[in-house]
Amino acid sequence: QSQELSEAQVDYHAALQALVENGTRMVCTGRMHTDRICRFESLCYSTEAEEFVYFHSNSSVMLPNLGSRRFQPALLDLSSVEDHNTQYFNFVELPAAALKFMPKPVFVPDVALIANRFNPDNLMHVFHDDLLPIYYTMQQFSDLDLEARLFFMEGWSEGVHFDLYKLLSNKQPLLREELKTLGRLLCFTKSYVGLSKITTWYQYGFVQPQGPKANILVSGNEIRQFTKFMMQKLNISLEESSSEEYIVVFSRTINRLILNEAELILALAQEFQMKTISVSLEEHSFSDIVRLISNASMLVSMHGAQLVMSLFLPRGATVVELFPYAINPEHYTPYKTLATLPGMDLHYIAWQNTAREDTVTYPDRPWDQGGIAHLDKAEQERIIKSTEVPRHLCCRNPEWLFRAYQDTKVNIPSLIHVIRQTVKSKPGPRKQKWSGSLYPGKVRDAKCQASVQGTSEAKLAVSWQIPWNLRYLKVREVKYEVWIQEQGENTYMPYILSHQNHTFSENIKPFTIYLVWIRCIFNKNLLGPFADVLLCST
Ligand code: UDP
Repeated sequence: QSQELSEAQVDYHAALQALVENGTRMVCTGRMHTDRICRFESLCYSTEAEEFVYFHSNSSVMLPNLGSRRFQPALLDLSSVEDHNTQYFNFVELPAAALKFMPKPVFVPDVALIANRFNPDNLMHVFHDDLLPIYYTMQQFSDLDLEARLFFMEGWSEGVHFDLYKLLSNKQPLLREELKTLGRLLCFTKSYVGLSKITTWYQYGFVQPQGPKANILVSGNEIRQFTKFMMQKLNISLEESSSEEYIVVFSRTINRLILNEAELILALAQEFQMKTISVSLEEHSFSDIVRLISNASMLVSMHGAQLVMSLFLPRGATVVELFPYAINPEHYTPYKTLATLPGMDLHYIAWQNTAREDTVTYPDRPWDQGGIAHLDKAEQERIIKSTEVPRHLCCRNPEWLFRAYQDTKVNIPSLIHVIRQTVKSKPGPRKQKWSGSLYPGKVRDAKCQASVQGTSEAKLAVSWQIPWNLRYLKVREVKYEVWIQEQGENTYMPYILSHQNHTFSENIKPFTIYLVWIRCIFNKNLLGPFADVLLCST
């Protein structure tokens, strides 16, 4: 790999001179450490100190210049997980003159993206925390193209899913341990540090119990752009004319088993009159699983990281997530949140085992596989008696682990019953018309005209023109919402109207100033912006 690095010829003396003269330059986006990504020229890394180094010179730049706030708590998050105290990035500072006394720098010619993977052994974490954020961070900065090189600084070894990370760029990603073999002082010619969090949809419960992120900013469209890229890299073509419809059961073979899997497969095949196949990460290659899932009508699996693969399902397909005994599906929703992202167009169904006799527990396993033998007797008994794991923080709650690693005999009639509540006929994928959700613009040329009748009655005639973009769109239903607010009052009267004018007479008083707010609504739920408020005096 060190050979690979030196392949691109760097004029060593010019590079060294530039570093000494110009020092490090940093310009960042983001106002807080949690939303910051920094671009550097000549950021260095001491593999002995395991620290990044910023060299000051007359030409160096440091924006934001935070002073000691840079340590409160850090300059930025190096992984996509928000504000995790093991994932902070910072650098130490030195004058460029100190380079004279330091090991000779080794220059990294590739544009670098420097980040932490969060948990590269868990497929959910791989996609949600690493692959999607890396992909969209690279989309954000044009010089992070396929020739860029990824540097993973979290300190883990490659991990079982390293091949997936390799798809994101043409160059071999480098791990922190490997940097030592390259030299004692590495200097990145151009680098970006940090990951975009814009695609993440779930928080794992470090501060409050796990759940969907408060402000989700990604839709199915961006997820599918990413999966399209991954499938191209994996040489999987999207078979438009899928010949046969089928169901995929994604099984786990080590723990959290479905004990009656053969029976389940048979029942699904019979009920939906579809071929039903079973796959697992242990027995199938990743490409084969993607190929199968990307054309499946339904994906059935125990709760677990393998369910993140539903991001490869075609629109219209159904995700069925099975939960072991005492685990409330509403409390663990990473895959539900994914499936129900706007524009993912997946159906989501949760089934929970509610029968104690259908669960098999493993109290004597090691704690990290759900064993509880290390707990005191009273606590063990409480856990065994409990019918629901109370909400908890990540990541070592023994009651949660105990219940999460149960095996389950799936009650087939009860499962078919809940699936049938959602899937009435044959399950998707449906060749749907593009039901893209475009929002109306503001209504235009809004006007009002008041008329007073006597001392107690008045009317307000309001008219407006359609939003500018409507004339280029086919919209099933166009409505207008008008709010009439008396100036100084904090309540208003709302109206939903079908036409572009209306005369209001109810509750309209003479010699009063009204504020009139108007917006357009497409298809019942696509609310446009309000036009500038109208001031109308009766
Ligand atoms: N895994 C698997 N088969 C098993 C158990 C685990 O493929 O029988 C995978 C799982 O999908 C995940 C990783 O191993 O990618 C770690 O699993 P773990 O149970 O720790 O996490 P979880 O699935 O609960 O997120």
